[in-house]
Amino acid sequence: PVPDEYKAESPGTDSDLNAYDAVYYAGDCNAGSKTIAINLPNDEEVQLRKGTRRLQLKNAMRAKFDKILVPIAEELLAEDQLKHVTFDAFFANTMFHEVAHGLGVKNTIDGKGTVRQALKDAYSAMEEGKADVLGLYMITSLRAKDEIPEGELLDNYVTFMASIFRSIRFGATSAHGRANMVRFNFFSEMGAFERDPVSGRYRVNAENLSAAMDALSNLILTLQGNGDYEGASKLLASSGVVGEQLQADLDRLDAAGIPVDIIFQQGPAVLGL
Ligand SMILES: [Zn+2]
Repeated sequence: PVPDEYKAESPGTDSDLNAYDAVYYAGDCNAGSKTIAINLPNDEEVQLRKGTRRLQLKNAMRAKFDKILVPIAEELLAEDQLKHVTFDAFFANTMFHEVAHGLGVKNTIDGKGTVRQALKDAYSAMEEGKADVLGLYMITSLRAKDEIPEGELLDNYVTFMASIFRSIRFGATSAHGRANMVRFNFFSEMGAFERDPVSGRYRVNAENLSAAMDALSNLILTLQGNGDYEGASKLLASSGVVGEQLQADLDRLDAAGIPVDIIFQQGPAVLGL
């Protein structure tokens, strides 16, 4: 959802995408928030010439869905929308997040270098934010063309909303956390969801969410394409924050004992070796 000048690049077509069950997480992967999907390499030149490999870690995704995402939804989402929180939607949203990483703008449109170099410390949060909204944009487009027969669009939207709360809990030191804070505030301003003050539950407005998704995709892709470090930093500073009401709602998740992340019991002993 951007003008053609931001779509000058074509990604490599030697890409692949597979689902795996992870057997062991080590090093950086086992520290901090646990990854559930991967798109590598990050090198822009390789991405444009060859493409990327995407890995969906299905068992880790399932654990986060069952133990974290569903309990969050049960606490914070409108009860009649809970049926739209589905594993298939979570899997698809995550998959297209990774697809979106491999697409998008790699080099600024003035030809001076990579988006990564231009956006410096603002790059990761911008890129994670882009992957989320652009992934959802692709799902919306594919559904409009009847290319995704399973479930319905509202499944993807409501599951996406639940996941915003999940990711904000990673905190401001995480690129995912900050990206989701920006999105929560941006979506709130555009009426993508409403909070019922009586029940304290959030209801997705699909039409407004769709418009907010287009607008935020456009904003982030434009900041990336322009290599606009100042604009990206301003967006993060003004919107990458947790307001009072949201903090109170997040505290309800803590009080309900819903974990922020999963911890692995793993290794030879667990496997009986
Ligand atoms: Zn990502």
